[in-house]
Amino acid sequence: MPLLDVRELQFVLQRFAADRNWEPLHTIKNLSMALAGEAGELVAIAQWMTDDEAGKAISADTDVRRQMSDELADGLIYLVRLADVCAVDLDRAVADKMQRNALKYPEPGNTPGH
Ligand SMILES: [Mg+2]
Repeated sequence: MPLLDVRELQFVLQRFAADRNWEPLHTIKNLSMALAGEAGELVAIAQWMTDDEAGKAISADTDVRRQMSDELADGLIYLVRLADVCAVDLDRAVADKMQRNALKYPEPGNTPGH
């Protein structure tokens, strides 16, 4: 069972780009830069808030919550589109990376020699 199945979203994004003749613009460089830009938009939402203020704003302020949702969606869209253009299988990549992360960061008490 896949951890992450984005095939339908990839298909929707392929069609969205094709219908607008955006495929020539969807280069690896452009999509990488767009993804970085969306990360910046995400950071800007809580840039001047304390951690407590940001937590409260996300749970209580519908405008902040909508902004956060929009920027997370924008980032995911560019990430999935970039993976598609690069022919990276995101499900395989995430599974492989989590396996390497588990080896690199063992649970406390499971560290060899302890
Ligand atoms: Mg955005």
